Amino acid sequence: MSDWDIGVFASIDAGLGVHLDVARELGIPTIQLHAPHQETRTAEAATRFLDQLNQQGIILTAVFGGFAGESYADIPTVEQTVGLVPSSTRDMRLAEMKEISDFAKLLQCGVIALHLGFVPHETSDPEYLSVVTVTRDLCDHAQKNGQNLHLETGQETAEGLLQFISDVDRDNLFVNFDPANMILYGTGEPIEALEKIGPLVKSVHCKDATWSENPGIDWGEEKPLGEGQVDMHRYLSALKSIGYRGPLTIEREIPQEPIRQKSEIKHAADLLTQLREQILD
Ligand code: MG
Repeated sequence: MSDWDIGVFASIDAGLGVHLDVARELGIPTIQLHAPHQETRTAEAATRFLDQLNQQGIILTAVFGGFAGESYADIPTVEQTVGLVPSSTRDMRLAEMKEISDFAKLLQCGVIALHLGFVPHETSDPEYLSVVTVTRDLCDHAQKNGQNLHLETGQETAEGLLQFISDVDRDNLFVNFDPANMILYGTGEPIEALEKIGPLVKSVHCKDATWSENPGIDWGEEKPLGEGQVDMHRYLSALKSIGYRGPLTIEREIPQEPIRQKSEIKHAADLLTQLREQILD
């Protein structure tokens, strides 16, 4: 792999990412994979997918977990439904995330990732401690599979995330930084957050968005790359300054509009390639 290889968030089955063919057609050399449904997570499916990746010369850099019942409809719904935070589904989802880690191992992938959900802000809250415990458990499972766990940003401020990672206290726990999520959730100015999280950022999403009028209460709006308020030139310059050299993974989750999705991903890849030439030595 080279520095700042372009990537795209992709799916095998009907997930949120683009189909692998789109990555191949656009000549994008790396992907992060949205984990397929349970029935597809078999050894046979892994072998088949790995063969496909090898044939197409595409490198898998992370496998993202997601769960049935999650909804990103609005911020309160995310709080209630997403990740390992909601207590009623926590044990079941932890077990599933461990299966996803095992599936990622079959795919020879050293990174699993997820949205943990809205971690309670009070560190003395018993629920906070429960989320710390469940994350330790998942980190330890990933460790046995030779993997790191990357937490997707968005639901926490940079400070909240740093506090949480420090409390979990596992050396295979890192961050997948998504600048647009900081804007969408209203959790902080993305470049400042990136600079604070710094060396813990081990993978990134390239996604854009505009702030809502009521940050933290209403969603901001996701935009095609370069048309939102992240400022891609500043973003990549900040990535360079924190020493990040991993892939630049484009995330554009509009699977209901595949033609627009493909064209916006192509445009995003062109923009990132151009900025990479300007910014990276
Ligand atoms: Mg993201």
